[in-house]
Amino acid sequence: MKNNKTYMIAALAAMLLPAAAVEIPAHFSDAAKAKLADSIALEPTEHKLNVVYFVGQGYEPVADYERRISELLVYLQQFYGKEMQRNGQGARSFGLNMLPNGNVDIQLVRGKLPHTEYKYSGGHGKVRAEVDEYYKAHPEKNFSQHLFILTPTFLDDEYSDANPGGVPFYGVGKSCYALDYADFDLRYLGEDTPKGHLLTKWFGGFAHELGHGLNLPHNNGTVEETKALGTPLMGAGNYTFGLKPTYLTKATCQILDRSETFAPAGDKTAFYTTDDPVKVEEPKLVLGADGALVYSFRATPNFKHVNAYIQDAPFAVNEDYDKVSFTNVEQDPATPGVYSVRIPMASIANLSGVKDSKGEGGIDLVFVQQDGTRYSHRVIFKWADISVKGTPFIEVKAFKGC
Ligand code: ZN
Repeated sequence: MKNNKTYMIAALAAMLLPAAAVEIPAHFSDAAKAKLADSIALEPTEHKLNVVYFVGQGYEPVADYERRISELLVYLQQFYGKEMQRNGQGARSFGLNMLPNGNVDIQLVRGKLPHTEYKYSGGHGKVRAEVDEYYKAHPEKNFSQHLFILTPTFLDDEYSDANPGGVPFYGVGKSCYALDYADFDLRYLGEDTPKGHLLTKWFGGFAHELGHGLNLPHNNGTVEETKALGTPLMGAGNYTFGLKPTYLTKATCQILDRSETFAPAGDKTAFYTTDDPVKVEEPKLVLGADGALVYSFRATPNFKHVNAYIQDAPFAVNEDYDKVSFTNVEQDPATPGVYSVRIPMASIANLSGVKDSKGEGGIDLVFVQQDGTRYSHRVIFKWADISVKGTPFIEVKAFKGC
């Protein structure tokens, strides 16, 4: 039987011993070790992100890429994990397959064409075909449906290690592309130097594009939230990452909760396989007496999370960085199946439609299902038409994805 003394000794030991620290590989740079010193233990995942380093003929991988890319990916995995934890989703991040030496298991794929054939414009189709061939030949290295591809910068009259570019750099469905160059190294993160600014540009871009590859749409935070936390990574955070406060919104983390490479070990969900759209009816937008918009709707219950995004026109991808995300969607306890979300005008004061009551606005509902499938429902209205009696919609549409 344990007595008080045993408990006291255990308590003392817990106080004296440091918490089980996360092991940082010995060969990582000292700067990387310092930046990773506050790493948190992440929950193991069922699936892992596929990481490919793709290089065409006539070019070689940039020196020391295994260490550099591993440090950057591990740092980013920590960033996502800490933000998931802060947003109530647990210490969870995208899984990475690790090698015994602590590097990330990066697949080096040599392209058949000259490297300069894999251009920014249209290059992804050529890269993707050869990467798919690689995975066909190495199914044991295919860890999930999500794919992250790095390509060394072109070195020509236009591009160099000091001005990298030329290669694909964007998200396409569940895959995304980023580039590599000589000083693409975690040691420069946060430095107020040309190398530090260049790193934020390309590492911030890498972090943001990876978000797209993990199912994320763009979004901004509320006025209050951005004041407190900085810039959302999936807004303009690719320009601030590492230099100024950058964060993930709660809406972003609700999508990541059911993104394949975040699924906890043992989660046997067959991701993205269902075809069971969430149906939305009776959307209604009113201006409440307290100056908040109230958006209500009826929905079928086949979803785990729902986010609401409000923005100015236009509603096209890459013109939607302004859309402010809300997660406070509540079900009416008296009428199951009827939901509403409260959007204080002060929280969206940066939208131009709120400032001048001109032009069109839209609200997207994004439903996240258990298997990670997303469905969107959009209403478009004129800011000037918003009223306490109800707001007419110019357009209502539903679509798969977000
Ligand atoms: Zn983007």
